[in-house]
Amino acid sequence: MIDPATFAPAILTIDLGEIVANWRQLRDRGGAAECAGVVKANAYGLGAHKVVPALYSAGCRTFFVAVLDEAIRLRAMVPEARIVALGGLPPGSEPVFARHGIVPVLNHLGEIGRWQAFCRARHAALPAAVHIDTGMNRLGLGPDELDRLADDHGLLAGFDLQFFMTHLACGDDPGPMSAEQNARFRAALARLPAAKASFANSAGVLLGPDHHFDLMRPGCALYGINPISGQPNPMRQVIRLDARLLQVRNVDSTMTVGYGATHRVRAAGKIATIAVGYADGYLRSLSSRGNVFFDGVPAAVVGRVSMDLITVDVSHLPDHLLQPGRLVELIGPNRQADTVAEEAGTIGYEILTQLSARYHRVYVDPETVSSPKQ
Ligand SMILES: *Cc1c(COP(=O)(O)O)cnc(C)c1O
Repeated sequence: MIDPATFAPAILTIDLGEIVANWRQLRDRGGAAECAGVVKANAYGLGAHKVVPALYSAGCRTFFVAVLDEAIRLRAMVPEARIVALGGLPPGSEPVFARHGIVPVLNHLGEIGRWQAFCRARHAALPAAVHIDTGMNRLGLGPDELDRLADDHGLLAGFDLQFFMTHLACGDDPGPMSAEQNARFRAALARLPAAKASFANSAGVLLGPDHHFDLMRPGCALYGINPISGQPNPMRQVIRLDARLLQVRNVDSTMTVGYGATHRVRAAGKIATIAVGYADGYLRSLSSRGNVFFDGVPAAVVGRVSMDLITVDVSHLPDHLLQPGRLVELIGPNRQADTVAEEAGTIGYEILTQLSARYHRVYVDPETVSSPKQ
C-alpha cells in the first residue's frame, strides 16, 4: 500500500511527546498547584482527539475548552476527566451540561442564578466555576456584581463551587498589569466564601509561584508558543510543516512573479513553486515575507501567497537541493511558529489555529522512539 504521505502536498507533523514534555515542565513549575490543559479550538488547531488523550496519559485531569460543543466532543475522549467550558452557560443549556458532566464557568450573576435554580430543581449540587473579572472587561463578574456576591454568599449556595477564576490581560508582557490583577483577585477572594482559585494562563505559570494559586490553565505554552514575548522561549517546539517543491523555472529581469505582479525579477535567476497557500492557513499576509528552508538553507518568499501555492527565490541554491517533489521546511527548527507570526503581523496562536484540515497530519506518539521522518 502506498503511504498517503507520499503524494501529500504538505505535511504537518505534530509531536505529542513534546506537548507532554511541555505540560510536565509547566506542572513542575507549579509545585503543588494542579496543572490543567487548555485545549479549546481543537487544541489550538493541533487536534484535540490526539492531544487530549496524550495529556491524560501523562496525568492531566482537567481540560478547558471555550464552548459546550467542544466539551461534549472531549467527554468521549476522556470519560473520567474534569472538563470546563470557559464560554459560560447559554440559556437552556443547563441539562446538556449536566448530562455530559461538563463544568460551566459562570460569567455573570444571571448565569449563577440559572445554575443555582437548575441544581435546586434537580436536587443535585452540580459543579461549576465562577469567573471574576480583574481587568479584561470581557467575561466574568465586574466590580458591581462582585459587590453583590460579596454581600450575599447565598447566591453561591446549592451548587458545587469548584473554583473562582480570573484571566490575565497582559500576561505576555512583564509590565505591572499582572501584579495588579493578582492583587485584585486576592482582594476579591478575601470577600468570598473559601474555594479553590485559578489565575495563571501560560504566561502566569512562568511569572512564578505568586501567580500559580490552586489550578493553572496553560494553553499556548503546551504547543510551543513563547508565552512571554521578548524573552527566550523555554518551551519545546511541537510542530513541523513541510510542503513539496512542485516546479522550478528560470526567470530574467523584466519578468514578474505571481498575482498582482508584485515581485519584479531584477536579474537572471530561479523561482521555485511550493505547494502551500492561504487555503492551508499559510496567511496571505506572508506575501513576500520571510524565508523557507531547503535542508537548512534559507530562500525568500517572493510575490503573493495564492490559495494553494507560494513562490520562492531559489537563485542561489544548487540544483541538487531543487528536485521537484522534495519537501521544504515552512515551520520547524529554522522557522518557528512565533517567527512566522511576526512575519505575518500576528501572534503564534493565530498561526496554529489557522493550520488547515487539508494538511496531511502525522502524529508522533510520546512512546515512539524513531519519528516518521519525511
Ligand atoms: C485561552 C485561555 C487560557 C490559556 O491561555 P494561554 O495564553 O494560551 O496559555 C487560559 N484561560 C482562559 C480563560 C483562556 O481563555
